[in-house]
Amino acid sequence: MTPHPTATRATGRPGPAPHVLILGGTTEARALAAALAGSPLRVTSSLAGRVAEPRLPAGEVRIGGFGGPDGLAAWLRAEAVDAVVDATHPFAAVMSGNAALAARTTGVPLLALRRPGWAPVAGDRWHPVASLEAAAAALPALGRRVFLTTGRQGIGAFAHLDGLHFLARSVDPPEPPVPAALDVLLDRGPFTLDGERALLREHRIDVVVTKDSGGAATAPKLTAARELGLPVVVVERPPLPHGVPVAESVPAALGWLGERGPGFR
Ligand code: NAP
Repeated sequence: MTPHPTATRATGRPGPAPHVLILGGTTEARALAAALAGSPLRVTSSLAGRVAEPRLPAGEVRIGGFGGPDGLAAWLRAEAVDAVVDATHPFAAVMSGNAALAARTTGVPLLALRRPGWAPVAGDRWHPVASLEAAAAALPALGRRVFLTTGRQGIGAFAHLDGLHFLARSVDPPEPPVPAALDVLLDRGPFTLDGERALLREHRIDVVVTKDSGGAATAPKLTAARELGLPVVVVERPPLPHGVPVAESVPAALGWLGERGPGFR
């Protein structure tokens, strides 16, 4: 690790700058890294390495798994990390669990940055389900032409549904197993309402599947589905690990960091 030359640590004592690790892969993680660029903090963003050409955040970036909670704890110690912000996607439950365990082991303060989930409004025809498997089980009763927006990693949960046609949108191509009748649309948000409307019409979609990711970038599909009267199967979020404080926005996360000590301000 290269110590930051000028700032003070969390304690206020002279020394290398406090080191903040952002567990990333989301819009909010990139926004937090951008907001901290130019601050006296040393900031490292971590990406899993799932996407072939990731949008890189500002500042230092490391890519790849840590090797479970023990590997992360070792990394936090080796890199003298003073605070961790888990800004991973709301469905990255393994990483969030690992972060909670590693924070407990090492005593490093941990914050979860989680954008709020979506809420239905009048006219929505949402079918909340607890898992991708439950979404697959619900589909045959709801439609025949499915717009699947749950990401390439979960597509295997729908592979056995031979009677349905799928349009799956993902950043990188899905790998087998996949449904027999599948069109893949490689794209990444943000998406527009006009675009989503046109897509649903053009592909004669009659049911949409989404995770409750929250955020504005992928919300227009929900509005388009409402306008067209389509049912939407919404996979609910996994719970956050117990005892981890949550910020719902980048400014709230910056506030939490500012409370860590004089070196963070
Ligand atoms: P996951 O199932 O919770 O994590 C599986 C393993 O991937 C973790 O145990 C960890 O490996 C590694 N990992 C995950 N996030 C990491 C990160 N930010 N930095 C370093 N290693 C990470 O994760 P996932 O759901 O596959 O998500 C992977 C990444 O994609 C995350 O950065 C997440 O924010 C982003 N993402 C996920 C979704 C989604 O729907 N799940 C959607 C959009 C973006 P080790 O145990 O070896 O440390």
